[in-house]
Amino acid sequence: MRLVDLSGDDRIVEMSYPTRVVFGAGALQRLPAQVERLQMRKPLVVADQGIVKSGLLARVLDVLKGSGITHGIFDRVNPDPTEEDAFDGVAAYRNQSCVGVIAVGGGSPLDTAKLIQLLTTHDPPLSRYDDATGGDRFVRDDLPPLIAIPTTAGTGSEVSRSGVATLKDTGRKTVIFSPHLLPKAAICDPELTVGMPRWLTAATGIDAFTHCLEAYLANALHPLADALAIDGIGRVGAALEIAVEKGTHLPARGQMMIAAMEGAMAFQKGLGACHALAHALTPISRVHHGLANAIVLPAVLEFNRSACAARLAQVAVALGDNSLTREEMLASNAIERIRGLLTRIGIPQRLRDAGVREADLPLIAKKAFQDASHQTNPRPCTEEDLLGIAKAAF
Ligand SMILES: [Zn+2]
Repeated sequence: MRLVDLSGDDRIVEMSYPTRVVFGAGALQRLPAQVERLQMRKPLVVADQGIVKSGLLARVLDVLKGSGITHGIFDRVNPDPTEEDAFDGVAAYRNQSCVGVIAVGGGSPLDTAKLIQLLTTHDPPLSRYDDATGGDRFVRDDLPPLIAIPTTAGTGSEVSRSGVATLKDTGRKTVIFSPHLLPKAAICDPELTVGMPRWLTAATGIDAFTHCLEAYLANALHPLADALAIDGIGRVGAALEIAVEKGTHLPARGQMMIAAMEGAMAFQKGLGACHALAHALTPISRVHHGLANAIVLPAVLEFNRSACAARLAQVAVALGDNSLTREEMLASNAIERIRGLLTRIGIPQRLRDAGVREADLPLIAKKAFQDASHQTNPRPCTEEDLLGIAKAAF
């Protein structure tokens, strides 16, 4: 896929799918118009300390100040947030008499902002709304509006219907899901991602890639998600290495931001064993979500290959493989191409290199099996299978 220059004010486009997406270099300047459209009298700006230190929060606040918009602030979201982060955010929302929420950052602030938005009108605990137990039926349509401003290109939380947090009672990373949690607007400005460090660009970029890939291979029917997913796979194949090598390359950053959105839109279809394992690895072994996905991905694909060879062949083509070999061959080419990409962007090859302890693998497999993500894995998997994949990735 050819990289198209996405810079310049005249290339900003607005799309509804169904979040209003304002995409393009300089799109941050369109934030005040969205605040006004959504009648956010005094939005609470949600961020974390990384966003404060990088100066990105100051850039957002300057834009608000420039338009005379008063706001509250909650900039203490923890990495891999828990329920407590959402409770603290709701307290800040009430103490500062806010109406509306603006989330700035990667997945942690964006997800936490969704849960803050939820808890301003819904009673705790969050476990009541756990997607795994059908909690979405308790989520009503009376939430204050949310604007998401992503500063990474990974989770795609800006266009997704779920917020993830570790719950107090279970200690498990839990998905709270409802269409009502969808941000009302997303300001997607690739200029906000150019300062992202190399490792984070790689880890979040592979998260976006894994969303596209697992959604594309997921054992479910959803043609629209498939179209978005295979498109996102091609964009990552063309842009991720450039974004990792040359962080200021705006066209590559822009392509990654689109792929992240496509990934999150596509995984409405479902995910797979890779995300089941990643969801277990992060709380147990403290491995970054994107990195966890990246390291186990080749082993999951080897496990799945026999169940989805035709689709893997399409993945190889999307990644630039034009050879007219047999499906089986193309499927293995896809896995080899993905392995090569992971190595070139500096992902450690084994879980042991990321600080995971071998003794934790059975617990990780057990938690991964409890995770709903693997239910749409193209090849059905047992706890034993997940343990086998984790061992192969170890
Ligand atoms: Zn993910």
